[in-house]
Amino acid sequence: MTDSYLNAVNAGFTKTLAKKLGLPQPAVLRRYEPGAPLVPGPVLVVGGTPGVHDDADDVAAALLRWDLDVRQAPADASERWGAVVVVLTGAERPGDVSQAVLAVAGHLRSLARGGRVVVLSRAPGDDDAPAIAATRQGVDGFVRSLAKELRGGATGNGVQLTAGAQVGDPAVLAALHFFLSAKSAFVDGQLLRVGDGPAWDASGFDWSQPLAGRVAVVTGAARGIGAEVARTLARDGAKVVVVDVPAAGEALTAVANEIKGTALQLDVTADDAGARILEHARARHGGLHVLVHNAGILRDKLLANMTPEKWDAVIAVNLESQLRITEHLLEVGGFSETPHVVSLASTSGIAGNRGQTNYGFSKAGVIGHTRAHARLLAPLGGTANAVAPGFIETDMTASIPLVPRQVARRASSLQQGGQPIDVAEAIAFLASPGTTGISGQVLRVCGQNLVGA
Ligand code: NAD
Repeated sequence: MTDSYLNAVNAGFTKTLAKKLGLPQPAVLRRYEPGAPLVPGPVLVVGGTPGVHDDADDVAAALLRWDLDVRQAPADASERWGAVVVVLTGAERPGDVSQAVLAVAGHLRSLARGGRVVVLSRAPGDDDAPAIAATRQGVDGFVRSLAKELRGGATGNGVQLTAGAQVGDPAVLAALHFFLSAKSAFVDGQLLRVGDGPAWDASGFDWSQPLAGRVAVVTGAARGIGAEVARTLARDGAKVVVVDVPAAGEALTAVANEIKGTALQLDVTADDAGARILEHARARHGGLHVLVHNAGILRDKLLANMTPEKWDAVIAVNLESQLRITEHLLEVGGFSETPHVVSLASTSGIAGNRGQTNYGFSKAGVIGHTRAHARLLAPLGGTANAVAPGFIETDMTASIPLVPRQVARRASSLQQGGQPIDVAEAIAFLASPGTTGISGQVLRVCGQNLVGA
């Protein structure tokens, strides 16, 4: 699916015209290409206290290990920064953040196209004293507002460390790596909570093949987001089982062949769906480490006009199937070691959407079971997370009438719809071994959609 407006305002006469008329000018986003640098320029780390070894120094050291060109504030204001990393983990009173925040201000105009601002801070906790609670929650509002000010496809996101987590923990570094990279192109204004998680040996870890040796199952993978998730997990080294309804069998086989995976024709609402998925994954690939609940449908109607068929179908595919399949795998001990479950939610399940009471229920339900599954998977060293796409260019959104479709595209900080690859990259990140400290979270891939942002 293409956004012809985006192409028009980025080339030739129509680019000049759009500028003169003050029309939205969405940037072409920086997306992952193998071998391309992690960030488009040097990285500035701010927030440290000169002369004192602190978290900012540890973050700078980690970035150096990724072969990045790293500087610490104060720095040359004429530099074109690929990223600015703001370390606020030591802040305990609102006044503690001023110096770092104002140091960032001086460099924002020289952030490269597709640049990144990533803020590391402590997550607010239930037992925080008022000043600490205010400071930590304040960072949330700061990140979301700053992200709305960035231009040229640059994004701003936050990593919030929960009690016990340290900046050098694998999951913290994995989150930082993801937010800096082009893989997070359509993730903007988001704060991801990261705990300490079990120890993970990153020595010898191949960041270009993070899923090597893992077996993944992706439902609804014949087209759209699911097909792209399957391709991305395969790119990252996983053996992938693609699942979709028999009616989509031909397209499903094509995806399976393309990625050297296997196809399972199955309606995910079938009573034995969990058993058949497990049987296939074990028989063909010897296990099941990653489960992506992606199959989903829309049956939009105002509640006043809702029919039992439309309500029930959406709940059955989008929510009940996910519950039953995961329930079966947990019951029979079907998951292989350190499993990762990633489920597709939606911004409609967070902010609500007119005409989508059924869909909104199902997607909010996904967020609910994700939190509960995080607890159930923890004893296995596993995680459960949800990804909530905003407007993504697929067949599903192509069916939205022209005017609301254009409005939905522009109603985000990045002023465009995302691509299936953007959702796929977020899922691949949450499925990768280093992320064990990230669980029960909802990561929005919505370009900071202004609705419920
Ligand atoms: P899509 O309609 O293009 O693809 C969905 C796939 O799921 C299809 O191949 C379909 O055959 C399959 N499917 C449907 N019912 C099934 C069943 N009972 N059993 C097995 N497979 C089934 O949709 P998409 O846009 O790629 O969306 C994928 C997921 O992302 C969905 O869960 C959707 O709700 C969610 N999502 C999409 C967007 C968006 O903007 N496209 C936004 C938010 C959330």
